[in-house]
Amino acid sequence: MFDLIDFKAVLVIALIFIPLEQLLPLHGEQSVTRRHWLNDVFYLLFNGIVIKFGMLLVIGVAMLLIERFVPVGLTAAVQSQPVWLQAIEALLIADIGFYLAHRAFHAVPFLWRFHAIHHSIEEMDWLAAHRVHPVDQILTKSASFVPLFALGFSAEAVLIYVLIYQWQSVFIHSNTRIGFRPLKWLIASPQFHHWHHANERQAFDKNFAAQLPFLDLIAGTLFMPPRMPEKYGVDQPVPQLYHQQFVHPFVAAAEPVAPIGEATPAAKPD
Ligand SMILES: [Zn+2]
Repeated sequence: MFDLIDFKAVLVIALIFIPLEQLLPLHGEQSVTRRHWLNDVFYLLFNGIVIKFGMLLVIGVAMLLIERFVPVGLTAAVQSQPVWLQAIEALLIADIGFYLAHRAFHAVPFLWRFHAIHHSIEEMDWLAAHRVHPVDQILTKSASFVPLFALGFSAEAVLIYVLIYQWQSVFIHSNTRIGFRPLKWLIASPQFHHWHHANERQAFDKNFAAQLPFLDLIAGTLFMPPRMPEKYGVDQPVPQLYHQQFVHPFVAAAEPVAPIGEATPAAKPD
């Protein structure tokens, strides 16, 4: 049974990223205790519990539905490969799943209500990475994991992917100016993902991949100019506290839609 809250991992991540953001800050004026940081600590500690149970349910049901359609020869071929090759393939397949789900969460107004919680981040840092609505995270992560389990990737290969994903997802949100200049098309960096969160019209609906920017390059959704964003977030109102953010997408979805022509706040940047 997995730990509901992995306090050791939380401590290690904090002890690495807090000093790193002080040593190599992107926005040097930003404080460790910036606005809403305590709310994001709550996400860091407790949101994972909801996500883990949700993922078990969604992935379990999805596997029951699709497992019988996957040819045995295919899973045998996947498992016959060395672990390092499986890990590379798992990373690629999982990030394609992530890209598609993430793009859907931007494109479909009902899904955007959940993803807007993550995009309400106005000061990017390692802690802000954890502000994700459980529905958003459960479905997006399931889109990454279901193909890996369906194709029969080994536990070791999936674990390597999970470790890379966990560290990189914190890193790409962090307030650091670390870049991968020659490899910036291959490995997602703060430069790549900060632009995804930028509140600038030309950056809206860009950089959907979690780890592999070339997926956006191929799909025509890459945006990485040689500067960094000044402003992050969304213009639409998003409540500030965890319990409010949890119910907000459901309540907003239940509100009657105003007739065309009447003032309706933009559901998403477009
Ligand atoms: Zn997004």
